[in-house]
Amino acid sequence: MEKTKTTSVPEEFGSQVFNDKVMKERLPKDIYKAVKKTIENGTHLELDVANTVAAVMKEWALEHGATHFTHWFQPMTGLTAEKHDSFISPTGNGGVIMEFSGKELVKGEPDASSFPSGGLRATFEARGYTAWDPSSPAFIKDGSLYIPTAFCSYGGEALDKKTPLLRSMEALSKESVKMLHLLGDADVTHVDTTVGSEQEYFLIDKDLYLKRKDLVMCGRTLLGASAPKGQEMEDHYFGVLKPKVSEYMHDLDHELWKLGVPAKTKHNEVAPSQHELAPIFETANVAADHNQLTMEIMKKVADKHNYACLLHEKPFEGINGSGKHNNWSIVTDTGINLLDPGKTPAENTEFLTFLAATIAAVDDYADLMRISVASAGNDHRLGANEAPPAVISIFVGDELEAVLESIINDTDFKAAEKTQMGMGAHVLPHITKDTTDRNRTSPFAFTGNKFEFRMPGSSLSVADPNVVLNTAVAEELSQMFEKLKDVPAEEFDEKLHALIKEMLTEHKRIIFNGNGYTDEWIAEAEKRGLYNLKSLPDAMPRLLVDKNVKLFVDHKIFTKVEIESRYEIYLENYAKTIHIESLALQEMVKKDFTAGLLAYQKVISDEAAKKKELLPDLTCGYETDLMKTLDTESEAIMTELKKLDADTAKAETIEEPLEKGKFYHEVVLEDMSSLRGAVDVAEAIIPDQYLPYPTYDSLLFSLR
Ligand code: ADP
Ligand code: MG
Repeated sequence: MEKTKTTSVPEEFGSQVFNDKVMKERLPKDIYKAVKKTIENGTHLELDVANTVAAVMKEWALEHGATHFTHWFQPMTGLTAEKHDSFISPTGNGGVIMEFSGKELVKGEPDASSFPSGGLRATFEARGYTAWDPSSPAFIKDGSLYIPTAFCSYGGEALDKKTPLLRSMEALSKESVKMLHLLGDADVTHVDTTVGSEQEYFLIDKDLYLKRKDLVMCGRTLLGASAPKGQEMEDHYFGVLKPKVSEYMHDLDHELWKLGVPAKTKHNEVAPSQHELAPIFETANVAADHNQLTMEIMKKVADKHNYACLLHEKPFEGINGSGKHNNWSIVTDTGINLLDPGKTPAENTEFLTFLAATIAAVDDYADLMRISVASAGNDHRLGANEAPPAVISIFVGDELEAVLESIINDTDFKAAEKTQMGMGAHVLPHITKDTTDRNRTSPFAFTGNKFEFRMPGSSLSVADPNVVLNTAVAEELSQMFEKLKDVPAEEFDEKLHALIKEMLTEHKRIIFNGNGYTDEWIAEAEKRGLYNLKSLPDAMPRLLVDKNVKLFVDHKIFTKVEIESRYEIYLENYAKTIHIESLALQEMVKKDFTAGLLAYQKVISDEAAKKKELLPDLTCGYETDLMKTLDTESEAIMTELKKLDADTAKAETIEEPLEKGKFYHEVVLEDMSSLRGAVDVAEAIIPDQYLPYPTYDSLLFSLR
């Protein structure tokens, strides 16, 4: 890793990116304009324009040391995929020249047959294609030009996470613009969804990591007794960065900056060895690409620093897992943040409209929001005491809640002295940030000028939750528009106010400002009729209910076939994940743990025998006690191992995806937990030196 940086950060930032600045400098004026138009309005790019862009892009890439190009996409694995082609083209006399055409820039044809496609595989041919997303800039990494693309089947069905995200941003833009025009804001032609995703991660020593099969294969520890110290002292959160960790973060920032990722904040998190990185927010699809890059670069830089970076949602039992907070808002092309309450009543009308739409969206589609963050990993986190519950609710803060109450009850809102602005139920005070950002336990919190969705797990693609949010809000706006579009001008304000009141009254059950981590809230949520979908198999059937299918189909996000394929992919992925975990756990217990157990038992019995030989009257009570405990646990371990083995085999015979997922959840995961329980009791009394893998103490407290 290069240490001495001669360039300044502004020079370094985006130096590997074919960004607007580069395009403006290098593209002919008319071509630059055409590309900008495509980026801003999503219009079609003519082939001759694409050819010129490709030629300029290639020259730039060669200057930056690239020899290859790749279409970079985000298949349903949740990871990114890439296949590299070199620029070389034979000249006929044994030499080569470097070539790159507009066609190669715009479209690629990777073999799609090995990517998850759910039921789609049966209905489409193996070929898929990737299509350039010009709104996310190309960049250079490891000698290749990376071209962000969307990935579809030959029939046009989405096989990736980006296509629906782009479609949902379009849907939200369309409905927002309609609504804004109706509200009298005629200048707006387009809105963007903005996303800032805070990324949590763990760093552990690489050598220790490599000795744990569970971490290497599954990303989380499947067994292991707790360390005497966890996070109870709360001494890690925002604590002083350790020098080596600080060096890592420093390099990470620079690597990300070169790629144009606006990494902004870094700090220690609650759990030992846990950290967070937050970027400055960007347009949702760019933010999604940049978050994927961030995760990749985090791992890569960790490797160079002799660390392993864990992005699993729950790498260690008993201490906090990792999330990815999705900060979300909507901004117009005239620069207005529609979720900023602002200071004037006129803006407040827009704000209240979009706020009401968002509240209604989250209530009406809470089941989809839950599904959008469901994964085998995140199931361990949601509902655990450090993470939001699986129940979706909205935190708006006391001040905003008082405003909403005043609208619902037709009373004048009396703002607190310091923020008093104007009166009248539809006139808001300026909502100061410190009155909105206090509740860290809410799954979906209003934080001043944006909403923060805190349920996404650390390894999730942010595309997933934003597809649901964008589409659901688009739907509510569209319903509002239908109710208001024919209202005469003189009645408009009154009717709008009445509609907002009606929506808030209907959806106020989703608003909860209290502590989301308590059992009382779970009971209360049930009374309010809110969903509590605890696991992926619990949640997944909701994807196929009529209202949800209709939502996606109406807004052209997914066809019914695409939804069904996704349903299968998520369940398949869930079952596969737990299947691998089960096998990894069994192997670790049978080989690694057992080796340690037997070695220690031998030492104890040898010691006891030696003592007895020397002094036959000794009781050897301590040794006997240890032996007995280890023996009892060994019996339990053997029984649990057999059960896990048999149940895992049984799970694999189940064909129907939901039934299979449920069996893994209800039976196999339970078996794993029982087996782990017995192993952990024994492990806690076996000295580290007998175990071939590092224990929690060293994993969590080894960083310097
Ligand atoms: P914190 O939550 O730590 O107080 P901020 O509220 O400033 O910090 O920002 C948290 C994240 O939210 C950052 O990634 C930031 O860029 C992002 N963010 C801020 N404003 C918006 C917005 N309008 N839309 C989307 N994300 C935003
Ligand atoms: Mg935050």
